[in-house]
Amino acid sequence: MRKKQFKAESKKLLDMMINSIYTHKEIFLRELISNASDALDKQYYNSFGKDTGMVREDYTIRIEPNKADRTLAIIDNGCGMTAEELETNLGTIAKSGSLDFKNENENEEKKTDIEIIGQFGVGFYSAFMVSKRVVVESRASGADQANRWISDGVEGYSIEKCDSPADHGTVITLYLKDDTEDEKYSEFLEEYEITNLVKKYSDYIRYPIVMNCENRVPKEKAEGEEDKPTEYETVYEDRQLNSMVPIWRKNKNEVTEEEYNNFYSEKFYDFEAPLKVIHSKNEGVPTYDSLIYIPSRAPFNYYSKDYEKGLALYSNGVMITEKCAELLPDYFNFARGLVDSPDLSLNISRELLQHDRQLKVIAKNIERKIKTELEKMLKDDRENYIKFFEAFGVQLKAGIYTSYGMAKETLQNLLIFKSTNDGEYVTLSEYKDRMPESQKGIYYACGETVSKIEMLPQTEAVKAAGMEVLMLTNDIDEFTFKMMRDFDGKEFINICTDGLDIGTEEDKKAVEEKNENSKELLDFIKESLGDKVTAVRFSNRLGNHPVTLTSGSDISTEMEKVINSQHFGEKIKAQLTLEINSDHKIAEKLTALYGSDKDSVAKYAKLLYNSACLISGIDIENPGEFSDLVCDLIV
Ligand code: ADP
Repeated sequence: MRKKQFKAESKKLLDMMINSIYTHKEIFLRELISNASDALDKQYYNSFGKDTGMVREDYTIRIEPNKADRTLAIIDNGCGMTAEELETNLGTIAKSGSLDFKNENENEEKKTDIEIIGQFGVGFYSAFMVSKRVVVESRASGADQANRWISDGVEGYSIEKCDSPADHGTVITLYLKDDTEDEKYSEFLEEYEITNLVKKYSDYIRYPIVMNCENRVPKEKAEGEEDKPTEYETVYEDRQLNSMVPIWRKNKNEVTEEEYNNFYSEKFYDFEAPLKVIHSKNEGVPTYDSLIYIPSRAPFNYYSKDYEKGLALYSNGVMITEKCAELLPDYFNFARGLVDSPDLSLNISRELLQHDRQLKVIAKNIERKIKTELEKMLKDDRENYIKFFEAFGVQLKAGIYTSYGMAKETLQNLLIFKSTNDGEYVTLSEYKDRMPESQKGIYYACGETVSKIEMLPQTEAVKAAGMEVLMLTNDIDEFTFKMMRDFDGKEFINICTDGLDIGTEEDKKAVEEKNENSKELLDFIKESLGDKVTAVRFSNRLGNHPVTLTSGSDISTEMEKVINSQHFGEKIKAQLTLEINSDHKIAEKLTALYGSDKDSVAKYAKLLYNSACLISGIDIENPGEFSDLVCDLIV
């Protein structure tokens, strides 16, 4: 029999397959099953209205592993191929030019190869990633004769006549490559592996994919043997491996909550029900169905480098990739789910660029959808939204920070913070709506815990003035505010900085006077504290507290802590002011002592400074000295 040569293009692709270093060689099965499904479609539609004696259920794809021969057969009763079709369809890759986008550069080429195989599959030739020989026996619908196409790879192929038991259809037999250290091709003969691969990639093929599977069943007991222990026997029976109808293709009203949740836990291995299911159909261009879940908790590796974002991508029910990162922005990386679009093809021959553009459109739509659904949840289902935010809120804040504020518009209305108003979460716009007219900006304070923030003298003062404070307990919070600068025209103000401006003009004037009159005392205190503070002053906004520390508005003490804990270069330092309550007895005492006993004033300055550190959540630099000073007071 004369051996025929592949066309140059096909040879190139085939060579790429045979020598592929692609790690997911398993996709060959997906490709062959998809081809079989297409052939069934053709046969089904061509015979429409004709009396073929076949009903839809008769159209099947069968998988037959044979361990003894190391072969795997994929069998369909689809339209089949004539000898000419075998020649043209398998001897040439159908659409030439499909390799045009490959780069001439050798290394680049290898990379592109892998990308092509991974993202879009390569059809029939992918069989050569796992086979040393491929035999295709096919009989076209209505033809008398069946034909056999045989190829051992790049060397070429031959076509001969053969017998066929079926009226129409195709049997593709793969002679698997020998196992190597790295590649165990014989895995593809194992029942569990085949079952898994079908589930993973081809679960929603609209024809049954059947395999004769081993099953252990209880042996029937003879009469009088009911009490004997049950014995089991192995039987072989046909099992359908795919579930056929994807739930995302159904209409929303056809799917129960339980079905959505079951699908979620099976697919994403999360046994806690999701907080939200977003199922939508887009009839525009591109057309797609999407099913997206908002989990109710972060997966264990969410905050590690191992976590990969992405949605599964399907083309007409056939999985293209398990995690398509391009479909989700980083700030929505917690979303799980999938997109299925008939406008994306498994076929190599379409241009990658075009896919990219369509993917981008889908990604934009999905981002918008997630955002509106989260906003809806925030409005209508606060309890669940809080659960969501406590699991993933940091990601939204990081989204604003790492985008240098570019994502602010998208995300700002999704932020919530606890407020001193009632200790509950509040949105920025709710906060703004409650602000008294005189309030200059959105007040916030940072601390390790809500209760520590509530105890700050500044918090008490702001509350006493009838205003509320947002309590920021996460490291990233203040950085996010700094990046946002304002919300709807209202600037963010850290109440522990010199940006806080409350009290009447009269009050302010009185303190100003007191500061001027006590300049010498205040300078003396500052001097005794060395470079720990940049200023010391009297203040009347501390409520009942004797002292506190405020920082300049550029770098707060919280920011100082976070930045210094994260980088190892030169430490940054917040500019601190020690504020002493002008209405507190301590002010009188210091003023009186300054005239008679400066040494004590110096000592008390240190004590007061350290107390202020404690209140503000700053570590005391020298606890030994502090403790000695306290003991001196007692003895
Ligand atoms: P594609 O499916 O993307 O067109 P393939 O290389 O996978 O490219 O297949 C080439 C062609 O071979 C198909 O278009 C189809 O006409 C034919 N073909 C492949 N498998 C079968 C099959 N099982 N039955 C009938 N025709 C098939």
